[in-house]
Amino acid sequence: MSYLETTDPEIAAIIDKETNRQINGLELIASENVVSRAVLEASGSIMTNKYAEGYPGKRYYGGCEFHDMAENLARDRVCSLFGAEHANVQPHSGSQANMAVYFSAIKPGDKILSMNLSQGGHLSHGSPVNFSGIIYESHQYGVDLKTERMDYGSIAEMARKVKPKIIVCGASAYPREIDFKAFAEIANEVDAYCMADIAHIAGLCATGIHPTPVGHTTFTTSTTHKTLRGPRGGFILCDKEWAAPIDKSVFPGMQGGPLMHIISAKAVCFKEASTKEFVKYSQQVVKNSRVLADTLQSNNVRLVSGGTDNHLCLLDLTNFGITGLEAEQALGNAGITVNKNTIPNETKSPFVTSGLRVGTPAVTSRGMKESEMKQIGEWISSIIRESKNTTLQEKVREEVKSLASKYPLYPDLS
Ligand code: PLP
Repeated sequence: MSYLETTDPEIAAIIDKETNRQINGLELIASENVVSRAVLEASGSIMTNKYAEGYPGKRYYGGCEFHDMAENLARDRVCSLFGAEHANVQPHSGSQANMAVYFSAIKPGDKILSMNLSQGGHLSHGSPVNFSGIIYESHQYGVDLKTERMDYGSIAEMARKVKPKIIVCGASAYPREIDFKAFAEIANEVDAYCMADIAHIAGLCATGIHPTPVGHTTFTTSTTHKTLRGPRGGFILCDKEWAAPIDKSVFPGMQGGPLMHIISAKAVCFKEASTKEFVKYSQQVVKNSRVLADTLQSNNVRLVSGGTDNHLCLLDLTNFGITGLEAEQALGNAGITVNKNTIPNETKSPFVTSGLRVGTPAVTSRGMKESEMKQIGEWISSIIRESKNTTLQEKVREEVKSLASKYPLYPDLS
């Protein structure tokens, strides 16, 4: 970072501090990951210098021949990774991918049926504070409050009553498998479109560890930066018949110039995700998540739905007498980064919460396996048992640092 240190020492110092935080701590935020050096290199490349409004072969700027090649590669690779007919890789984020689908398929005031934010859904699925809840009439399903799992019978019943134009499936904090085929059948029955948002589980869907919605739902949207381990961004998959309206909704509908450095990095990510190593990695993500779940449960931590099928666990802290906010802070002091999260039957505000969400994609990318997950589960349990014990937090922080040093973020950084 020698150029940056000379030009802007303030930002260089901040990046340095963040680098040390990532090196010395454990990132258990379920929506985060550690990208490869190749992804990092493409994201920081000179592809950022160019305007490329439009699509390959139909740009509004000259000099886009290499940008066309990069975007075509990204599109072809993601289509082959997921077995899709058409892909748009330009959305700057997952929320924008969702926005483009709504703009293509439904009109302002139309009804959306999606998962409740407080039970695992996402803001862009119709929350009243988000464009999706402001522009559209949002109706929400939750989980069954006893099993804490989706109940497809009651979702179907709701769909028959509400008669939505689009049904959204996919979640930000749901630890169980999602039956996308069942959602597509419900949508079909009520003559609605179906959009699967696989932002969290895209890596698991790409590798066959979680059933894919592609082939069942009309639209599939995703981010690239979670289990898929790419740069921050979004994409949309659909059949050929939807290609033109989707592309038009992204550009010129809601975005200007695509981020070509990020699209190049997405192409790298899609290539990496199609390798055997990535399949192994994704299997390990889920194995690690299960070991973490078992360890927490053996320490009397209640998990929402009783366990996990994917990369994340949702902890209910009610029995420990602490809030999600307090636990997030206590674990943060110990070098373990997690986020507070609402749980089904939540009684507290989203800023406080009764739960915590923990995920294994980032620590698995660093090479950690089952034994490290046991250790991490023990640390988390001890800290939430004694959340005010700052001596314990300091002790764990040192132990976390020592474990992290054995699993470098990047081999040449220490
Ligand atoms: N969809 C789901 C299910 C998500 O979990 C998220 C992000 O957490 C998004 C969409 C939005 O992605 P972004 O933050 O890139 O807008």
